[in-house]
Amino acid sequence: MANDKYLFVVSGAAGTGKDSVVKALREAHPEIEKTVSATTRAPRPGEQEGVDYYYRTREQFQQLIENDQVVEHNFYNGNYYGTLREEVDKRLAARKVVVLVIDVHGAANIRRMFPGATTVFLLPPSVEELERRLRGRGTETEDSIQERLATARQELAQQDKFTLKLVNDQVDTCADALYQAICQRIGAAE
Ligand code: 5GP
Repeated sequence: MANDKYLFVVSGAAGTGKDSVVKALREAHPEIEKTVSATTRAPRPGEQEGVDYYYRTREQFQQLIENDQVVEHNFYNGNYYGTLREEVDKRLAARKVVVLVIDVHGAANIRRMFPGATTVFLLPPSVEELERRLRGRGTETEDSIQERLATARQELAQQDKFTLKLVNDQVDTCADALYQAICQRIGAAE
């Protein structure tokens, strides 16, 4: 679609801090918008419907897929996650910068569908740090942590397919680097 230069995907292994970096980016630059995904995962404490995710049953999610209302979706750690078509289309039509925070499979699908999109891979400072962050959440069982770590290693192996790699050593610095990349892309293609 035209206008896809306004589309930015922030991806990387779970626990890398994608959400924190994009939160810092949007606090500093509120004009940048982020899509809210649909998921069948249960809300974590403090998460809100329509803010963190649209929480849906499996049946509802399947219906979204059948109705072609998701641009991409993935089955991750026992649950479906997907980007709603409307969330993307309405912003690109208005030429608003829109950020998708999704996993590496989602990034690959977006790359195919929106060739002008910029895909950013966030790296943790180290795998040890990644494990510490995953455990630090305190909301996962040991099995779930082990599964997420195994997935994280597979995800890290995909990093060279991305337009840009950023190390999330310090959230604000990383958010700044992301903002510079966005400005460059938007400015360069104007
Ligand atoms: P969490 O359960 O920790 O919120 O998310 C698990 C993983 O799913 C994260 O890597 C997150 O970025 C990814 N994710 C969230 N929303 C979407 C989506 O709409 N599509 C895809 N493909 N992945 C998503």
